[in-house]
Amino acid sequence: MTEEIRNKYEAVIGLEVHAQMLTKTKAYSNDINEYGAHPNSNVSAITLGHPGTLPQMNKKTVEFAIRLGLACGCDIARDQYFARKNYFYPDLPKGYQITQDKTPICTGGSIHIRTEDGTEKEIKITRIHMEEDAGKSIHDVDVYDTLVDLNRAGTPLLEIVTEPDIRSSQEAYNYLTEVRKLVRYLDICDGNMEEGSLRCDANISVRLKGAKEFGTKVEVKNMNSIRNVQRAIDFEITRQIEAIENGESLSQETRAFDALKGTTISMRSKEAANDYRYFPEPDLQPLFVDQTQIDSIHKEMPALPRELFFKYTKEFGLSDYDAYNLTDNKSIALFYEEIIQYTKNYKAVANWMMGDIKSYLNEFGVEIDEFPLSAKIIAELIQLIEDGKVSTSIASQRLFPELLQSSDSPLEIAERLNLIQDSDENALKGFILQVFEENQNEVERYRSGEKQLTGFFMGKLMKVSQGKADPKIANNLLRQMLES
Ligand code: ADP
Ligand code: MG
Repeated sequence: MTEEIRNKYEAVIGLEVHAQMLTKTKAYSNDINEYGAHPNSNVSAITLGHPGTLPQMNKKTVEFAIRLGLACGCDIARDQYFARKNYFYPDLPKGYQITQDKTPICTGGSIHIRTEDGTEKEIKITRIHMEEDAGKSIHDVDVYDTLVDLNRAGTPLLEIVTEPDIRSSQEAYNYLTEVRKLVRYLDICDGNMEEGSLRCDANISVRLKGAKEFGTKVEVKNMNSIRNVQRAIDFEITRQIEAIENGESLSQETRAFDALKGTTISMRSKEAANDYRYFPEPDLQPLFVDQTQIDSIHKEMPALPRELFFKYTKEFGLSDYDAYNLTDNKSIALFYEEIIQYTKNYKAVANWMMGDIKSYLNEFGVEIDEFPLSAKIIAELIQLIEDGKVSTSIASQRLFPELLQSSDSPLEIAERLNLIQDSDENALKGFILQVFEENQNEVERYRSGEKQLTGFFMGKLMKVSQGKADPKIANNLLRQMLES
């Protein structure tokens, strides 16, 4: 397809995300909710929906849903009831799923993403509702049969549905990155797409730019990474535009993504769509949420990435780039927050986090929780530089590696290794005279106008002083002595 044809069209995308909740037990029973347990070991009669069993609502799921709703600025429904969504599936032992239909717990609100040009865009949320997961059919373990593991059946899920506000596969990618970040900050879901704790269905249509009406949408399922959601959307956009350009009409259907081929294949058309025959769940009481409950959850809300981002850029004067990197990962942001309890040098702390500390984590392949130095030690190290006792490069190259091996304070190590910087003028003058002595030619050239030699002299001076000369003071003194 030519660029010209592609540019005539605009993509319209709405995403449906399912997030598995990190509750100890399942949504409506006391079965343990855990990934990777021995197959069919967390399966009680309630999970199997045996006659006479009664489900019971897990309060933690409600709390988690409200936490997410508050983080997204949603309205929280006060009166809710549950619904049965009926369908047959081998890994759905009850023959129905308990979900919310007419009264989702959260409506409205939005999630903010960064667009391709770096500005912020609001993706509106249609609804967030609570439901339960099905079990898992396993096709690749037994050669002859499909196996079923029902441990996952009854796992609490939140389904987050967006308005069709997304306009490109990159925006979809950024939206999912934000959702994953958010559920991790909120401690409600581990966000692991490979293990299926976070899953996404993408609704995609295209229309001529400027058109008012939406085109016919296709729903794509079966993507197990954010990158694959992006690939599936890119494929669909091209497929749909080509069909329209060829005069074919698109049909509303559900398609599956094939990650190996990078294509989508039709699963079922709208005509064959399930009729779920929703009706109110008779075995669960309606749910009432009151303001006191919402307020108490509000009070316990953890810091959110977007709030931290604004604090770092607006209050601390950090660049968008620094702030985005610091808030990308919750543990990194929390460590940053801890260090700034001890020092107000926000930019220096950001530099250490993104520089030496990140390099350490990359080199040893560990998370920040396993980083051996305390926030207080990092702050002391930064203070030494601030006080002019060591230069940044000495701190990074000599002190930092030594700190990792030792339990001494940065100051003790700096003294022990004789790294304390000379700002003493007489000592410095001595070093400068030595440099002049050894480089008489350059001194002459400087004095006849080659001012750019300052850098050369500073280099020599650092060598002679073994890096201990305070660069600012040395630079001033050096110029004075060269000019006189
Ligand atoms: P359905 O009734 O098929 O489930 P919904 O109206 O509930 O459709 O929407 C499901 C998802 O599809 C939502 O995320 C919504 O934003 C998105 N969506 C709706 N219409 C379109 C469209 N024409 N193109 C792309 N996405 C759409
Ligand atoms: Mg729908």
